[in-house]
Amino acid sequence: MAEENYEAIVIGSGFGGSIAAYRLAQKGIKTLILERGKWWPITEKQDTFCTYREPDGRAAWLNDKTVLFEPKPIDRYVGLLEQHIEDGITVWCAAGVGGGSLVYNTVLYQPSRANWDRVFPAEMSYDEMDAVYYPRVREIIEPSPIPGDILESDYYLSTRAMAEQAAFAGLKVKRASLGSNWDVVRQELKGDKKPSAIAGEIWYGINSGVKRSLDHNYLALAQETGHVTILALHQVTEIAEDGQNGYRVTCERIDEHGEVQEVRTFATGSLFMAAGSMGTSKMLVRAKATGKLPKLNDYVGQFWGNNGDTFATRKVSMRTNGGQGGPASIIIEHHDNPILPQALIVFPEWDAPEGTLTTLGMTLPADLGSFHYDPDTDQARLTFRLDSPGNLKMLEAVNLTYALLDENNPYEMPVEGSLNFSGHYFCPINGFPEPGTQSTAHDKTQAGAGVTAHPCGGVVLGKACDLYGRVLGYQGLYVVDGALIPGCTAVTNPALTIAAIAERCMEDIVAKDFG
Ligand SMILES: Cc1cc2nc3c(=O)[nH]c(=O)nc-3n(C[C@H](O)[C@H](O)[C@H](O)COP(=O)(O)OP(=O)(O)OC[C@H]3O[C@@H](n4cnc5c(N)ncnc54)[C@H](O)[C@@H]3O)c2cc1C
Repeated sequence: MAEENYEAIVIGSGFGGSIAAYRLAQKGIKTLILERGKWWPITEKQDTFCTYREPDGRAAWLNDKTVLFEPKPIDRYVGLLEQHIEDGITVWCAAGVGGGSLVYNTVLYQPSRANWDRVFPAEMSYDEMDAVYYPRVREIIEPSPIPGDILESDYYLSTRAMAEQAAFAGLKVKRASLGSNWDVVRQELKGDKKPSAIAGEIWYGINSGVKRSLDHNYLALAQETGHVTILALHQVTEIAEDGQNGYRVTCERIDEHGEVQEVRTFATGSLFMAAGSMGTSKMLVRAKATGKLPKLNDYVGQFWGNNGDTFATRKVSMRTNGGQGGPASIIIEHHDNPILPQALIVFPEWDAPEGTLTTLGMTLPADLGSFHYDPDTDQARLTFRLDSPGNLKMLEAVNLTYALLDENNPYEMPVEGSLNFSGHYFCPINGFPEPGTQSTAHDKTQAGAGVTAHPCGGVVLGKACDLYGRVLGYQGLYVVDGALIPGCTAVTNPALTIAAIAERCMEDIVAKDFG
């Protein structure tokens, strides 16, 4: 097998990977991105992605059924959403050129100073993040809040309903900063484009091109430099120390059905891990356990959290629109929740019953999980205990916020026993429910936390890495993605903070290690 050499190799093309590649390329460094997923270019015909209403193989990563909503049989394909069924929790991740930006709700939410200080090492100054790195990301992705004319349209009824509910309960509401192109939403509203965002089609991609996904900004800028090669459908299977060259990266070139076409190896002196919290953590834990990177420290694989995510579907007994327009456009902050600070986001759930609102809650997880190598499967596996006393507080806290909303809801409540229910794909604790056990009636809103789309940690700043993502024990090995985050991004959705921290890391790494 002939080895190809690159000055730098980046594994993964999501937030961390695309920022690393762009900043390396700006410095003139010949960089290779290896990405397991495919490109998803937006077409004139608006048929890039499948839809919630008619899912197909494009919905899921090499799976024979969909992973959202009620499972439906699909063809195995290199689709967008990968499901990791772990010990105690199920985790959703993205696959494709652009990573999570292809599937995300486009919420780019900066934490408050107080919450930041509760999560991140004291040496990482909020002032610096606020003044330099968050703005640096926003300058490139250009997020903005939902404009009034769009929010007032019929399609955003549920968003307005949630804002009204929050106001009744005296909770703070703000418009989220979204990486969405609102002019394209207006084209949908005018009928110039087929309904996509306004029909609440978000997680399988938005066919009209509303999302400012990374292939349109950071990755496009990286390619414009002429120094970056992106190899899609290249799944890294192993990383190892390579005496002479630094690191050897082995990957499989796959076709669109996941069949291996070729095994390729690459060598580099500078390896950037950006396969996401799950991908990066699992690869490094396995490399340590199998003697490929034996000098990694014992913090590798530790301090993983679900970002404090919970989900609930509330029955609000007012007119709503489950297939509401999206992406999720408002945030409710209950930072003075006496148990744990909360943020809630209402998001489109296309088949939710009339009169309900589905929300994601985010807080601070207490008892973090860890990855362990399993020699029987030759893979690393995550253990996370949602039912530990510390983590049960996440549910107590968010249920307290929901109780506040329920108690202050002035609309006539339906009969007891059917007042609220947990959404059909969110179970209370301990993993993913079997189909058929997914809808549970409750007499008050009860959040579930069996699944997260916001994995954080595993190779954490200041523990397994220095405060700039340099992996301890190895020169030229870096982590620049969600694996760096200590369990959560301080009561926010994680992408903006992952991106801002990647910018901070790359500024230091490029200046000092490539000086
Ligand atoms: C459905 C959904 C909705 C979300 N909505 C939001 C939101 O609105 N706001 C927000 O802040 N966050 C949101 N998130 C979370 C957000 O997408 C992630 O936090 C973010 O993308 C993580 O960035 P990252 O750089 O760590 O990894 P990712 O963006 O996940 O990128 C990792 C990349 O590495 C690739 N990869 C993995 N393994 C390999 C391998 N072995 N070889 C080659 N390539 C590999 C993957 O295919 C992927 O492209 C959402 C996530 C999901 C799943």
